[in-house]
This record gives sequence, structure tokens and C-alpha cells, in this order.
Amino acid sequence: MKILVNGIQSNLRFSSAHVIPGHESCGYIHGHSYFVDVEIEGERSGDFDFVVDFKDVKKYTKAICDELDHRLLVPVYNDLIDFKDFDKKKNSIFELQKQKSVYFKIEDKGYTIPVEDCVLLPLPYTSAEELSKFFAETLAKKLAETYDNLEYVAVCVNEGIGQGAEYKKVFE
Ligand SMILES: [Zn+2]
Repeated sequence: MKILVNGIQSNLRFSSAHVIPGHESCGYIHGHSYFVDVEIEGERSGDFDFVVDFKDVKKYTKAICDELDHRLLVPVYNDLIDFKDFDKKKNSIFELQKQKSVYFKIEDKGYTIPVEDCVLLPLPYTSAEELSKFFAETLAKKLAETYDNLEYVAVCVNEGIGQGAEYKKVFE
């Protein structure tokens, strides 16, 4: 059986700024009011014969939303972003997080952002596609700590009403 959680109605939302380096119109820092829909399929089990407790799904998804809310989302593994004193092939993201500010260039534009104002994500892009994959994988990992009856978690990250990307993470 499948359960569905509607992001708008369940307040699974976040407002963040991002940039898609190299893109004609999205290559400028801009923002979205995102919302996140979740679909989970699995066998019903446990004391209440649930697929999964809605409370857990909402709590874990909201925690990811809160982590990204009111921040600039920086895709550390983007090929066009060059960080000062940081080699993305060798150094860990924790090194960047320890700094007060992050310094990077995207082609000929330079940025200095206080580290507390951004979220450094281990992603090549902060597109709806990559964010939905990030949400689905993070949520699946968290649910796997307490559930062993689930088949997949699918997360749709919507960049406002009318456009979103969905990623399905199948449990092994
Ligand atoms: Zn955008």
C-alpha cells in the first residue's frame, strides 16, 4: 500500500536562494518558495498496521526543509564553481564549513558569503532534480533506521506551484 503526504497542506516547505551556474537565466542568484510532496510504498505492518507513521514522515521531511530554509544553497560539486583554498576532489566539505565565509568564483564573478548564510551541499546542482534526489536519499536513510517494510520513497521537490521533479529511492 502507498501513503501520500502533500507538501503544501502539511507545511513541508522552505524558501531558499540558489543559482544554476552557466544557465542563461538561472545563473543569477534568485529564490524559490519550495514545497515537498512525499510518496512511500510498503507492506503494512506493526501494531497499527501502518505502512509508515505519518508523524515520522512529516518530522523527518520537515527537518530537511528546515536545514535548507532561508539559506543560499551552494552545490559544492558543480564544475563551474571554484572555491578559494579548497580542492573539491581532495578536501571534505567539513573543511569549508569550518570557515567563517566561503569564497568562490563562477566564471568571472566572485562571491563571498558568510558560511552561516549558506548550505554547502554535496551536489553538482541545486536543481529540483538534484534536490529531490537529495531529499529521497536522506529520508530513506532516516526511515531505514526504524522501518524494514518499505519498498520505496519518492519525493517531489516543487519550485513553486506548477513545476517539480520527483526522485524515487528504492530500498535494497
Ligand atoms: Zn531557480
